[in-house]
Amino acid sequence: MLEIVALEKRFGSNTVLKNIDLKVAGGELVFVIGPSGSGKSTMLRCCNRLEEPTSGDIILDGRNIMSGTSRDLNRMRLQVGMVFQGFHLYPHMSVLKNVTLAQRKALKRSKPDADARAMDMLERVGLAHKANAYPAELSGGQQQRVAIARALALDPKVMLFDEPTSALDPELVGSVLKVMKDLKSKGMTMLVVSHEMAFARETADRVVFMDGGVVVEEGKPEEIFGAPKAERTRTFLSRVS
Ligand code: ADP
Ligand code: MG
Repeated sequence: MLEIVALEKRFGSNTVLKNIDLKVAGGELVFVIGPSGSGKSTMLRCCNRLEEPTSGDIILDGRNIMSGTSRDLNRMRLQVGMVFQGFHLYPHMSVLKNVTLAQRKALKRSKPDADARAMDMLERVGLAHKANAYPAELSGGQQQRVAIARALALDPKVMLFDEPTSALDPELVGSVLKVMKDLKSKGMTMLVVSHEMAFARETADRVVFMDGGVVVEEGKPEEIFGAPKAERTRTFLSRVS
């Protein structure tokens, strides 16, 4: 469903991604770990060209997103759902409006269609009863679930998560992870950057360890957490766990 091929990214003379190859099959949850500054966010952002790759290819459901017109690019961007550490909801709009806005503007859905889709997705994240609330009236965990509903409402082919629970108080993390686990069980293709190792052990199909802009090793959670091959992976895991 998503294939990163020989991806390289430079900022000036600083090469932050070096020859990254990574495949995420349909319905797979691939978990990315690594120290701060290893290039995890940059890699995710390259997947929908929020960050322009220096070289390499990104293949989404058989299509190379590095070629094609700007119109193709816009269409493709809608198919890659992104959830960040901060929730980026519009504070002056209701939850429902936040979830319908891009559907109306980008997908040109009618108001009844967009509202219906939004309510389905809010139901899915357990927040249908908050449709008329404003973001400031919600907890951080609830706001992040609205952000997930907003991304899902655009019918993405893949969901990218960049430290979705890092800004949350510990007691709110579980509700967001539960939504992500539920998404996985419904067959969503997901690429997740996170430090929630227990969640990775339980839910990830594969774990990728990045350091210094390269994929150092990847494997099943029990392989990476139980018997990491590379010294760098062992050092990292001993620091975080
Ligand atoms: P991670 O998410 O793993 O912490 P990042 O992808 O955020 O890592 O950053 C990888 C490297 O790229 C860091 O050295 C960071 O300073 C650099 N970097 C990220 N974004 C930019 C940018 N817009 N301009 C210059 N350097 C950047
Ligand atoms: Mg990051």
